[in-house]
Amino acid sequence: MTPDPAAIAAAVVAHYARARRDLPWRRTRDPYAIWVSEIMLQQTRVATVIPYWERWLGRFPTVRDLAAAPLDDVLAHWAGLGYYTRARNLHRGAREVVERWGGALPGTAGGLREVPGIGAYTAGAIALIAFGERAPLVDGNVARVLARVFAVDDDVKSTAGGKRIWALAAALMDGLAPGADPGDLNQGLMELGATVCAPRAPSCLACPLAAACAARRDGRQDELPVVPARRGVDELPVLSCVALWIERGDEVLLARRRPEGLYGGLWELPQGDDLAAARRLVGSRVTVAAAGFSHEQVLTHRRIRVEVRPARLAAKARLVGPRDPRYDALSWHPIAGVLGGDVGASSLTRALLDRKSPWSRTSTPSPSSKRGTRRSSPASPPSATTSTTTTSARPRAAPPRASTSSSTTTTRSRPRSTRSSRARSRRSTARW
Ligand code: SF4
Repeated sequence: MTPDPAAIAAAVVAHYARARRDLPWRRTRDPYAIWVSEIMLQQTRVATVIPYWERWLGRFPTVRDLAAAPLDDVLAHWAGLGYYTRARNLHRGAREVVERWGGALPGTAGGLREVPGIGAYTAGAIALIAFGERAPLVDGNVARVLARVFAVDDDVKSTAGGKRIWALAAALMDGLAPGADPGDLNQGLMELGATVCAPRAPSCLACPLAAACAARRDGRQDELPVVPARRGVDELPVLSCVALWIERGDEVLLARRRPEGLYGGLWELPQGDDLAAARRLVGSRVTVAAAGFSHEQVLTHRRIRVEVRPARLAAKARLVGPRDPRYDALSWHPIAGVLGGDVGASSLTRALLDRKSPWSRTSTPSPSSKRGTRRSSPASPPSATTSTTTTSARPRAAPPRASTSSSTTTTRSRPRSTRSSRARSRRSTARW
C-alpha cells in the first residue's frame, strides 16, 4: 500500500518538533544568516560548519559587512572548509545584493535566484526558512528518506528518479496541515535523513515513519536509494605540478591565484606545470634543490600531485610580482599564520605547510623507514580530500644544484608543532 503523504508530513513535523537539534542557524530567520549556513553546509558536515558559521557571522554580521570586506579577508574566514568557490560566490552575491537591492535579500525563491551564486536549492531553502514560502525542497537527506519510504527504484540522481522524488516532496507539502510551517516539514525531512535514516544502518526502530516505510517493510534499506556508482580514486584524472618552498626565517613565500578558476584568490607555494614554470614565477634569481618531496591530494573529481622543491632566492633578489598570468600577487607569510587561517589557503597548501620543513629533511634521510603516509587533511571536511606524501631526500646536506639527479628515500611524515618546525627551519636555513 502506498504511504499517505499527508500522514507522512504530519509525522515528520511532529518528530521535528520533538527531536530537532539546536543548531545556531535555526535560532534565526535572518535570510543572510540562513544563506551563509546553506552555502557552508554544502558538502560539509554540521559539526564542522558550526564554528565556521559563528566566526563568519561575528566578522561579517550583515550583507553589507560581507560586501565591504576584501576577498582576502573573506577567504581567510573560509580557510579549511574547502570548495572555495562557495566563499567567492557569497562575496560576489553580497556585493550584488548591496548594489541592486540596498542590502536586503529578495523575499522569494524567484528573486533569490537572481543573486549570483544562489542556485535553485539555496534559493528555495532561504525562501522556505526565512520567508515561509510554501515550496518543496530536496537534498540528499530528503531524497534518501523519500526513496526508502516510497520505494523509489529509479536512480535518484537520474532525470526520472529526480522527478519522482521532487513530485513526492511536493505531495508531502500539499498534504501539510493548514497553518503548519512548511519550513518545519522540509527541515524535519532533512533532520530525519541526517540523524535517523542514515545512509548505512538506518535507525528504523527510532523512526517516526517506520510503520509506513516500504523499504523497512520489505527489508530493502540497504538497496535504497539507488545512486550511480562512484569512480574509484585510481580512475580520477591526475594534475601534476612542481612547487617551490622558499623560506625566510619563520616565513614562506606564497603566490596568490587570480580570483577565477580552481583555488581562485587563495595563497599557495609558487608552482608551475614543471620546474621551469615554477622558477619563472619567482624570477631567475632562485636556486632550487635537486630533490624535495612529493605529495598527492585527492579531491572529489581529480588528484593533484605536487613535487615540492626547497629553493632559495639570491641574497639581493627583489620580489617583482608573479610572472605568470594565473597569479596576481607574491609575498611572504608566517607559516604559523597560514596554518592558523590568517590568509585564505587551500587544504592542499595547508597540508604541505603542516609538515616538517624540507630544509631540515635534506640532511636527515632515513633509509630504513621506507613508508609513505596517507592521511586526511585535518583542516578539510573529513570526506572531501585525502593526501599521500612521499619524501625524496638527498643523502647529505650539500649545496643545491639545478640538477635533477638524486637518490630517493621515502620517509614517514609526522605531525609537527609549528614552533619546533620553525626552529628546525631556522637551523636548516642557516645550514643551506
Ligand atoms: S523506517 Fe528506516 S528506512 Fe524507513 S525512513 Fe525510517 S529510518 Fe529510513
